[in-house]
Order: sequence, then structure tokens, then C-alpha cells
Amino acid sequence: MTSLASQRCLLHPRREAIARCPECRRSYCRECVTEHDGRLLCAACLRRATQTAIPKLHRLAWLAAPFHLVTGLVVAWVLFYLLGLALLRTPSEWHEGTAVQKTLLGEP
Ligand SMILES: [Zn+2]
Ligand SMILES: [Zn+2]
Repeated sequence: MTSLASQRCLLHPRREAIARCPECRRSYCRECVTEHDGRLLCAACLRRATQTAIPKLHRLAWLAAPFHLVTGLVVAWVLFYLLGLALLRTPSEWHEGTAVQKTLLGEP
């Protein structure tokens, strides 16, 4: 196996390769690689990476609005349901301010 230093750029045979694309495993010179997501990708793989990432986002974008709406409604409903439940279960003494006294005095 030859070392990276002795390899040449796939697109520029006269230039020394400084990086190997993690996607296609080919060697490239500094000019041919671009950093993307913390990795050095060649132009072809960068295009492929950005092209596959964007349509995926667009495909799910229309789902985001109704999803957030439904999630918000469910969260609000659950919160109000629990609030109502808590209020229903609260003894009437609690509203009058005598519950704390009873608890402290040990009365039923
Ligand atoms: Zn590549
Ligand atoms: Zn090159």
C-alpha cells in the first residue's frame, strides 16, 4: 500500500494529494477537497452529500407544520387535563387556606 504523501490528485496528476475523500476513497489535492460536516470531501461527493441532504429536508418540511400543531395541541390538552384533574382533586379546604393548618395540626 502506498502512503498518502506519494499519491497524486485524481484530477491534477501533477499535484501531490493531501487528503483522501472518505466517501469515494480517492486522493485529492488541497484545491479539490472541501470541508463538509468536519470531513474533507471531494467536489463530486460534496455535491452528492448536499443534494441528498436538501431534498430529504424538503420532503419532511411539509410534515413539520402540522406535526408541530398536533404536538402543541396534544401538549396543551394534556396540561389542561392534568390542571383540571388537580383542581378537581384539590380539597375545598385548600382554597379556603385551612388545609395547611389542618396538616400542621394533624387533623383528618
Ligand atoms: Zn469523493
Ligand atoms: Zn486536485
